[in-house]
Amino acid sequence: MNGSPRPLPEFTTWPTFPFEGNLRLRELAEPETFEPPREGEDGQPCPSCEAPDGAYIWVNERWRVKSLDRPSGLPMVLLLETRSHLDLGDLTNLLAAELGVMTVRLEKAIRSLDGVARVHVNRWGDGRAHLHLWFFARPYGQTQLRGSFLPMWNDILPPVDELRWQEDRALVAAWLAEFGGEAIAEPPRIQWLAPSRLEERDGGADPGGYGSASALDDGSGPPASGSGGETGDPTAPVPPASTGEGSAVPSRPADSTGTGGREEPVGGRA
Ligand SMILES: [Zn+2]
Repeated sequence: MNGSPRPLPEFTTWPTFPFEGNLRLRELAEPETFEPPREGEDGQPCPSCEAPDGAYIWVNERWRVKSLDRPSGLPMVLLLETRSHLDLGDLTNLLAAELGVMTVRLEKAIRSLDGVARVHVNRWGDGRAHLHLWFFARPYGQTQLRGSFLPMWNDILPPVDELRWQEDRALVAAWLAEFGGEAIAEPPRIQWLAPSRLEERDGGADPGGYGSASALDDGSGPPASGSGGETGDPTAPVPPASTGEGSAVPSRPADSTGTGGREEPVGGRA
């Protein structure tokens, strides 16, 4: 560990690696003699067990799905958790089987969002003893974000549009609810014009049409574009195809693949 710096691994030259310039390997610490307790074990409180259903976007009697607290760099980052305080190796056969079903279902739901090319599924479990699987959506066409550095990019890129993010959370929740459970996440409230403003517009003022509703500048807005189907409700979920877990979530113009920061415990995803 002394002397000249060790050569960097090859992956630092890959285009998917988020950093460039003069990098240096961190010294590897000596192994600890015991594993420090994670959240939710050895008397440590478990934030997952303490969280109410309202903190999730969808729940049923055995599983809960939540998003991050705010938009981050990837179009969608979701976590699948057991309702009970169990780790992966603790799952009953029933829960283990359901984990597979839920993983596939959630992957399909997220991948069906506009602008999402791929969904990466990860489980680490170093920070919290309560089982939680990560689902990271990679933006369509963003091939530089391919592979295992995707979680880093989630913290590097600027946050995605919040209205769009809220709408997508609601779409995923509605998709899951088609198979049971309860959708918790609600779509964003649309800032329609007040009646007085409509009257003004009818009188010729405000030739700009929806005027201040331009807050919906990400293409997720007014229903004329049909994202909500015949109901005109841009937030209306489209049930999965009758053949099973379908492939169509309401379409919407792909837009920025934007991207950002947020809080993260235990020095990274754990
Ligand atoms: Zn727990």
